[in-house]
Amino acid sequence: MSSQVISFSYMLRDRHGEILDTSPEDAPVTFLVGSGAIIEGLESPLVGMPLHEKQEVIVEAKRAYGFRDEKMIQTIERKLLPVDELKVGDQFQTGEDHHAPIVRVIAVEDDMVTLDANHPLAGQDLFFEAEVLSRREATSSEIEHGHAHGPGGHHHE
Ligand code: ZN
Repeated sequence: MSSQVISFSYMLRDRHGEILDTSPEDAPVTFLVGSGAIIEGLESPLVGMPLHEKQEVIVEAKRAYGFRDEKMIQTIERKLLPVDELKVGDQFQTGEDHHAPIVRVIAVEDDMVTLDANHPLAGQDLFFEAEVLSRREATSSEIEHGHAHGPGGHHHE
């Protein structure tokens, strides 16, 4: 089985045309196809895209970050959070792992805090302008590790 490593740059807009995110200049995103590193709805078009040609990719919410789930909004006692200062908009990682879910503070009232664990882009259709910059066969260590190595990919200490 062969796997590919793709490097691409992108600009992400919402349905109103507002820019939500963009890959840093000279720092394309590099990922191993099939590793789950990027959303499914963007990965498949990138696999088939010609090199060095900007293309628009529209990804519906269900193939991007899914729909918002009200059950992922929770109100808890403020003292359960190990921080002194707390304000609306703050974000926390819920575990040590850097892939652990991120929760956002959406309300602070007296000694209660409301946290939203939905992905900030949940429920949104995403409008990408993407350009594939390179595409190569994955090395055996990349396949073994389940991620891309090198610039834009994973770096080991
Ligand atoms: Zn690795």
